[in-house]
Amino acid sequence: MEIRQISGLGVCATNCYVVISEKGNAVLIDAPEGKEEILSAIGNATLKKIILTHGHFDHIFSAGEIARETAAEVYIHDKDLSKLKDSTLNLSQAFGISDTFEKVEKAISFMEGDIITLDELSFEILHTPGHTSGSVCIILDDNMFTGDTLFKDSRGRTDLVDASHTDMAMSLRKLRVFKGRYNDYNIYAGHGANTTLNTERENNVYLRGFDYDDMF
Ligand SMILES: [Zn+2]
Ligand SMILES: [Zn+2]
Repeated sequence: MEIRQISGLGVCATNCYVVISEKGNAVLIDAPEGKEEILSAIGNATLKKIILTHGHFDHIFSAGEIARETAAEVYIHDKDLSKLKDSTLNLSQAFGISDTFEKVEKAISFMEGDIITLDELSFEILHTPGHTSGSVCIILDDNMFTGDTLFKDSRGRTDLVDASHTDMAMSLRKLRVFKGRYNDYNIYAGHGANTTLNTERENNVYLRGFDYDDMF
């Protein structure tokens, strides 16, 4: 298994990740603007699946085009499914680019606890609403793709349409107390630098709970 990272794509400087199996099949985690860079990172691997952390335009921008060209299946949480075609919900209208990217024709929706497999790879879905109602973290061995839920030293915005500050607080708590099979997890976020879950548990004020203690 190999993880290839492409950083800072498009107007929002969005990260995405290509995971390649031992057999040379690939899964793309998020599909920002920058199709050529993404395809070159996939290289000779065969793209089979595109898994989206949430439905904002900066994470789904290239999904429609890449899915059509490669016949890869697109996956997104049930609650963010409508964002694939709704330019208000996916924020593309607010950014003035609503008609500039190809929409995803067909997507498979997933929910909390679902596991998406490809060869030896097993992607487990952790529903972490707040940034959007269908935001998820995706766990692969001791790696966690956190989308716009958790960043190094920060968290995703909760002031946008379909966001919830209360849900975000609950989701951050879920990550703070998360007990998986590993002692620590590499964090691959939707924006900014990589980190680890334990590092954020120590240093990230949002994950430490200072953002929401007053609500309980
Ligand atoms: Zn977002
Ligand atoms: Zn984003």
